[in-house]
Amino acid sequence: MRSVGPLRALRGVAAAVGDLAVPLVCGGCGRPGTPWCPVCDAQLRDAPRALAPRVEVDAPAWAVGRYDGPLRAAVLALKEHGRRDLAPILGDGLAAALLTLAQWGDLPSGRRLALIPAPTKASAARRRGGDPVAAVAASATGLLGPRARVLPLLATAPLARDSAGLGAGARTANLAGSIDLTRTPPAAALDDDTVVVLVDDVLTTGATAAASTRRLAAAGIVVDVVAVLAGA
Ligand SMILES: [Zn+2]
Repeated sequence: MRSVGPLRALRGVAAAVGDLAVPLVCGGCGRPGTPWCPVCDAQLRDAPRALAPRVEVDAPAWAVGRYDGPLRAAVLALKEHGRRDLAPILGDGLAAALLTLAQWGDLPSGRRLALIPAPTKASAARRRGGDPVAAVAASATGLLGPRARVLPLLATAPLARDSAGLGAGARTANLAGSIDLTRTPPAAALDDDTVVVLVDDVLTTGATAAASTRRLAAAGIVVDVVAVLAGA
């Protein structure tokens, strides 16, 4: 009988630690044994919700769902707890919502569809694995087809003041000056035949969406629809 060698024992420890780091539980409700359960998936497939942001946003705003329950848990797990495996799941939900909006006539039709991720603050999870909103948008393009692409154009300026504690109006003004274009927009983004969707994870007051659409408008890009995963 062969004894378990030290290397094999170490591998066992590594596997156990790996399991601890990424437990296989539903990212929406914590049910064990699956990364995303059918109950939470049904909520992700609900009809998109029209939002009425407190801050005026220069485009209609829609959410895949309400910012509570499984969607809230999944967004936080992706953003704050490194659950990158939820990006494709949430991306499918975003794509399904956009396809529904197109069916309803609430998303203009065009030859191209540009998904522009809203700027996100650098968090520990982001430093580890890149921008979660961009990852969700990239996953959504898989279902939306070859006419859809992600255009990462926006970033938060490094010296932006923290908006915490500011009122909604002051927050918009503060944010508007603190969002940068990371590069010259490609000509296709300015084309009338391109439908532009600003994508974010959560919309609460609408300040980030308002500031982002204004920054893009200043660069000649008209946002047609704001689409977020979860709306307050
Ligand atoms: Zn679940």
